[in-house]
Amino acid sequence: KLYNQIQDLRGNIRVYCRVRPFLPGKESASSSVAGVEDRTITIMTAAKHAKDARKSFTFNRVFGPLATQAEVFADMQPLVRSVLDGYNVCIFAYGQTGSGKTFTMSGPKILTEEGLGVNYRALNDLFDMQAQRKDTFCYEISVQMLEIYNEHKGIAVPDANIVPVASTSDVVDLMNLGQKNRAVCSTAMNDRSSRSHSCVTVHVQGRDLTSGTVLRGCMHLVDLAGSERVDKSEVVGDRLKEAQHINKSLAALGDVIASLAQKNAHVPYRNSKLTQLLQDSLGGQAKTLMFIHIAPEPDAVGESISTLKFAERVA
Ligand code: ADP
Ligand code: MG
Repeated sequence: KLYNQIQDLRGNIRVYCRVRPFLPGKESASSSVAGVEDRTITIMTAAKHAKDARKSFTFNRVFGPLATQAEVFADMQPLVRSVLDGYNVCIFAYGQTGSGKTFTMSGPKILTEEGLGVNYRALNDLFDMQAQRKDTFCYEISVQMLEIYNEHKGIAVPDANIVPVASTSDVVDLMNLGQKNRAVCSTAMNDRSSRSHSCVTVHVQGRDLTSGTVLRGCMHLVDLAGSERVDKSEVVGDRLKEAQHINKSLAALGDVIASLAQKNAHVPYRNSKLTQLLQDSLGGQAKTLMFIHIAPEPDAVGESISTLKFAERVA
């Protein structure tokens, strides 16, 4: 029995990786340092002849630069739907600034239908399921948006904690409002968005119309702060404090997921605001997806390797 529980726990953490394409206009500047084959990503780190010039990492799923938003979401769909069965789910986008986290979760800056990210597709899918099951289940879906900056909990949506939503357009409105508030902050604070964690939480309550049983699940969709190491000799004051808070919370998140993956008895949730906030949705029966992002440019190799090592530790 215990063995089964442990197996379940391990099965509840998965790691995906996505390599973004070169940005338009920059395609021919250099060749990608990241090769993708099946579930393995290989990084060319140094001179081609050096012995350890290639480092490979294998995860549950690896998406190359040609993967579409629809393909990426298709792999996550079962995880998303498990919220309707009462599971708690956390999906984290991790990587250095510019590696594609926001693209995966929200989409490109100018949003097109095919560009829609995980947040929209996940909610859309839940609404579809709500409609499909309407004769047997009554689902109530609500959304909460939070921003965690310097280890404080901030609310991105004014005078609204949890907002009931009935359609994707409600959600798009809500997210646009959240984005607008973030943008206002970021002009004052010099692109704060890359230095805060942005979390969309979807609460689902489902009542079985025949038995009356009520199931509750929630899903946290988290666009994490950029994971890049800041050169300590260059930053001072507020910027240094920010960098320290980010390092602290990302390290704490890695520690929590790694100790869950290793089945440790003690899970250090209390070491950061982020892990405290998500405690109920990390571990136990909850399901976690760590989605790491890799930039293809040679000058990003150092950060890419450290991102991959972070992921290897929690896989
Ligand atoms: P991050 O949120 O990690 O800082 P972004 O998501 O903002 O990075 O991505 C940086 C830039 O790369 C943006 O212009 C974004 O539209 C583009 N981009 C990222 N991932 C992809 C992708 N898979 N396909 C096309 N463009 C991408
Ligand atoms: Mg971003």
